[in-house]
Amino acid sequence: MNRLGKFFRKTYDKILDIFFPLDKKCIFCNKEIVDFKEKPYCESCEKEIFNNENKCIKCDTKIKEGNIVCDNCKSHKRNFEKCLCPLNYENNVRKSILKFKDDNAIYLAKSYAKIIYEYLNHHQIKFDVVTFVPSHKSKIKKRGYNPAQVLAEELSKLFGIEVKETLAKVTLTQSQKTLSFTDRQQNLKDSIIVINSKSIKSKTILLVDDIVTTCATVDHCSKLLKGYAEKVFVCAIARNHIGKNQRKNKDEEKKMIEI
Ligand SMILES: [Zn+2]
Ligand SMILES: [Zn+2]
Repeated sequence: MNRLGKFFRKTYDKILDIFFPLDKKCIFCNKEIVDFKEKPYCESCEKEIFNNENKCIKCDTKIKEGNIVCDNCKSHKRNFEKCLCPLNYENNVRKSILKFKDDNAIYLAKSYAKIIYEYLNHHQIKFDVVTFVPSHKSKIKKRGYNPAQVLAEELSKLFGIEVKETLAKVTLTQSQKTLSFTDRQQNLKDSIIVINSKSIKSKTILLVDDIVTTCATVDHCSKLLKGYAEKVFVCAIARNHIGKNQRKNKDEEKKMIEI
């Protein structure tokens, strides 16, 4: 191919990427893949991205072999039945989710939803209503969307179950990024309210978030929903395993991102 040909080929590929960004590349490492519709990730990512190690039966965080429940779930009674996160929030998964959350890559939601859908089916999770962790309107205005809501809408399509807006974030809280579980709980208190409570009365809810770090946000939302609902299951794309026992270092802690 001559230089002009190469130029047109590159331009054509770029245009394809803009309009069909997911048609042929692994959503985590960008490697070309053949059967995107079947799996939106490549074989080498498949070996690394899944949250497959020994994990807490309640919150899906990694725990030492032989243990069943993590220390946090032992010391804090959870308001949700189970928190389900198919992927590990690290390396390329982390990069991909940051693109989804902060770089307008809304198209990724479809693929994430598919991964969550298969994981929930595998665990035979049943529910009547899909809802999501709310974001403050100033944040939505800045970002243009609430990632958890976009994800909930895609999951709702896959399950054929309606998505309902049941929670609202009424005060802009201090960023959760560097706070401990207890500080996060205090920070969240009164910042979220239940709306549309009739629609969740005696129902089993699927509460959707993008990533879960300490469970403080999803647990607080579950507590509010449980004021009306029967049960709450939580799901997110990925689990950030930086808990009490796994906290790596201060820099890593700073990278933690929730709502
Ligand atoms: Zn890959
Ligand atoms: Zn746990």
